[in-house]
Amino acid sequence: MKKLFTLLATALLLTSLVGCQKKEETQDPDPVVETESYDVVVIGAGGAGMTAAIEAYDQGAGVVIVEKMSVAGGNTIKASAGMNASETVFQEAQGIEDSNETFYDDTFKGGYEKNDPELLQYMVENSADAIAWLDSLGITLDNITTTGGMSVSRTHRPTDGASIGGYLVSGLLAQINERNIPIQYNTYAYEIVVDDAGTVTGVKVEYTENGEAKTKLIEAKAVVVTTGGFGANEEMYTSYAPELAGFVTTNHSGATGDGITMITAIGGATVAMEEIQIHPTVEQETSAMITEAVRSGGAILVSQEGTRFFNELETRDKVSAAIIALPEGYSYVVFDQTVRDNNKAIESYISNGLVIEGNTIEELAEKLDMDPAILAETIATWNTSVASGSDAEFGRTTGMENPLATAPYYAIKIAPGVHHTMGGVKINTHTQVLREDGSAIAGLYAAGEVTGGIHGGNRIGGNAVTDIIVFGRQAGTQAGLYAMNNGGVGHPEAPVQNGDDDTAAIKDGVEAQYTDGVYTEEVTGHNGPLTVQVTVEGGYITKVEVTSHEETETLFDAVMDQMVPTIIYEQSTEVDVITSATVTSEAILEAVNKVIEQAKK
Ligand code: ADP
Repeated sequence: MKKLFTLLATALLLTSLVGCQKKEETQDPDPVVETESYDVVVIGAGGAGMTAAIEAYDQGAGVVIVEKMSVAGGNTIKASAGMNASETVFQEAQGIEDSNETFYDDTFKGGYEKNDPELLQYMVENSADAIAWLDSLGITLDNITTTGGMSVSRTHRPTDGASIGGYLVSGLLAQINERNIPIQYNTYAYEIVVDDAGTVTGVKVEYTENGEAKTKLIEAKAVVVTTGGFGANEEMYTSYAPELAGFVTTNHSGATGDGITMITAIGGATVAMEEIQIHPTVEQETSAMITEAVRSGGAILVSQEGTRFFNELETRDKVSAAIIALPEGYSYVVFDQTVRDNNKAIESYISNGLVIEGNTIEELAEKLDMDPAILAETIATWNTSVASGSDAEFGRTTGMENPLATAPYYAIKIAPGVHHTMGGVKINTHTQVLREDGSAIAGLYAAGEVTGGIHGGNRIGGNAVTDIIVFGRQAGTQAGLYAMNNGGVGHPEAPVQNGDDDTAAIKDGVEAQYTDGVYTEEVTGHNGPLTVQVTVEGGYITKVEVTSHEETETLFDAVMDQMVPTIIYEQSTEVDVITSATVTSEAILEAVNKVIEQAKK
């Protein structure tokens, strides 16, 4: 049995919003008196944070999430287009040819070749697995479209074509709740605590109890920082890009760069802080972002004069620059009923009063104060380009499946707004936070928009969700492993692991023959898929865990308790199967064999 983690503080009654307020200077010297203890603390309950928490928990670690706002979701909940991924099961099922190389090349080109090549490679290679992992959690992204800068349809979104953000956040939250991972809301992290050797030992947070501001220390073996970007902190982003003063922002109010501030305070390095993305199509009154998927569904951009002026699906920076260069500095996203029918996000734009509608093109033009004849001609020319599959005017090549020919017609007035901060803290592919000298801060992991370098000089639409899921998973896995290897006590329902001990015995004299890492394989058992995770440490297989399965519990337990320790003892799959559970045994052996193939030195 695993020991229960100690919770030293009394139960907290968190009532009012601490929000994104920074800790007041006047609170020094530090009044922290209360202490809690967990194996892993995750700071921020956005997409990266919840993903990391799930994976750390599935490593057996006791996890807590602290979130400064009163709700989970951060900027993730606003994500609309989808999640880019290559070589996925859904692409294959739909006959879409894609490769990790093309995904890499599109992203690298779109990012002006400033992307960190290793991080990008890791993201691309793990994208299909991330789609499969989400699917295994009931978060199914099988409706595939494209976004600006992508040469192939690889933007995965919910089956009904809805915006990804709300669907993803509620799906992840359900998984957090299923695992009983606590989220302490209205709890603002303000300091990452390190010991004299520079190893992370916890996080200091501020919260409100019965109307009174309080602070406490949450001790931890590992800390995962997933606090998002700084696109709502005008002072911070204009210090890197003064030209953005006065721009609206699409970011939620908590995107204030706290993680970057906390990490740099303990010597962590940053990269590419000046790389700030503006999104071309933001409704200016409400700061609502009009998703690129509207354009890839067939919409065009039209100036006040009534003409197209640019390839609507060029990368975001170029489209933004083209809009800013118009004499009026804004533009209209124009589309028809077919585009509306294919994109659920449009319904929320309509219900929020952002959309102007006309029964004919001429009626729409009049409502926009535009010359009807010019708009009609613009749309007619565009429809001819769609029919021929060639946009002679601006060279657009995607989002040309349907002409704009089904009434009513719609328009949304937009201009660019601050959208995504591509710079952030420096990590390696293990999501360890690095110092300037390249050394890792022990026990500290980061993932998502708080990190920098992955998107280079321009983030492609649909790549932020890939980033948070792929690196959120890695951060949770690595933090969970690190915590459990460094005295973590685990959570009460830690996954079945090789008998009662964390590490099973290894036969004397067996050679270390595999490459270290955590490998995950999906195989088919008796009742459905099993996700098998194999840990190789010091050249030896040290753990074989099953993070999800549908097998009969008693038979499954027999395999885990009897066969798995033998695999580890022998460091081989040449072991006897459990006769009452041959299919489950063979499925696990198949998974370990696959890992052995990859991990052979
Ligand atoms: P990502 O896309 O990288 O997951 P999000 O913006 O979706 O980023 O989520 C980041 C979350 O972190 C938000 O919910 C935000 O409120 C939270 N957060 C930011 N700073 C702090 C902080 N200092 N303490 C606790 N939570 C924070």
